[in-house]
Amino acid sequence: MTKPSAPEFPRRIGERYDREQAEALWGLPIGELMQLAHRARRQRFDNYRVTFVIDTNPNYTNICDTRCSFCAFWRSADHQEAYTLTPQALADRVENAHRRGATTVLLQGGNNPALGLGDWLAYIEAIQTTCPDIHLHPFSPSEYAFLARRENRPVREVLIAVHQTGVTTMPGGGAEILVDRVRGEISPDKISASQWLEVSETAHQVGFRTTATMMYGHLERPQDIIDHLLRLRDVQDRTGGFSSFIPWSFKPNHTKLSGRVDQPAHPLIYVRVIALARLLLDNFEHIQSSWFSESIEAGQLGLLAGADDFGGILLEENVLKTTGHNRSTNLQTVQTIIQRTGFVPTQRDGYYQLINPEPPRTGV
Ligand code: SF4
Repeated sequence: MTKPSAPEFPRRIGERYDREQAEALWGLPIGELMQLAHRARRQRFDNYRVTFVIDTNPNYTNICDTRCSFCAFWRSADHQEAYTLTPQALADRVENAHRRGATTVLLQGGNNPALGLGDWLAYIEAIQTTCPDIHLHPFSPSEYAFLARRENRPVREVLIAVHQTGVTTMPGGGAEILVDRVRGEISPDKISASQWLEVSETAHQVGFRTTATMMYGHLERPQDIIDHLLRLRDVQDRTGGFSSFIPWSFKPNHTKLSGRVDQPAHPLIYVRVIALARLLLDNFEHIQSSWFSESIEAGQLGLLAGADDFGGILLEENVLKTTGHNRSTNLQTVQTIIQRTGFVPTQRDGYYQLINPEPPRTGV
């Protein structure tokens, strides 16, 4: 068998990897792939800063009609564990996290048909009134699409209504793998790949900055991962509205999909996805490798494979906890992990702006 060789690293401005080259990159030995991605990171950033955010991730409801087979979080409305928070109860949780240092609240919930746009606006108002200094980062593309259908209004109108409250960013949840063959198997009642991309693109046009995510490690093939990244790159070429790319692996425990996929992907696949993202997504500034998604060690390797952001400290997280993936950390530990990987930890806000940055070390 001949050893795959690295496609020549694009050198001229505007030169980028195509699909065939992306497949060759995926097949490289992991060390070579990491080295290429690290070079791409060094071309974009002339320093060794790694950013992180102190955030919290409460969920306003776990009632969901979409019932994805990979999700252990959702409950039917009549389930004894079903809940929907009142706006004030949610705001109190956010305030509690803010007192502990959180600067950003990532807010998501199930697709609960009992909640309308008025409820969303009430959640926003309660948080803005109780905790005006926190950055509110709510509602993913799939939640917007579900709510717009429930309200019988175009997604753009719902986006504008939320944007008018002063909310200007959106988390990119619900992307999973942006290939309809895969989505049809793991989440047949969720929005299609093109709908997810369309909501994100419309959000960018309205004025939102959004993140792009990927959940891999189930029924996708490497070509699907490449398709996903190339589709994100196309939207970013048109809008420039994605702030970062954030991958994580499927966690099978307590999910219906565990009947077909009972083991999480190997951590080196996480590193491979991050490296490929840094190389293909040449129009994305930030690529995230987190301590939380897989493990501290995988997160550190991701930083050596092109990532420049270590994600959130996550004072509250409930979705992956339902699969038994229950982890916590603190500010000092995250700073130490980043330092031990050879980088300079720097806190950021929800817009990826640095908070009290120390002079970065360069040229290492
Ligand atoms: S992933 Fe989201 S949409 Fe799918 S079942 Fe879970 S809560 Fe519902």
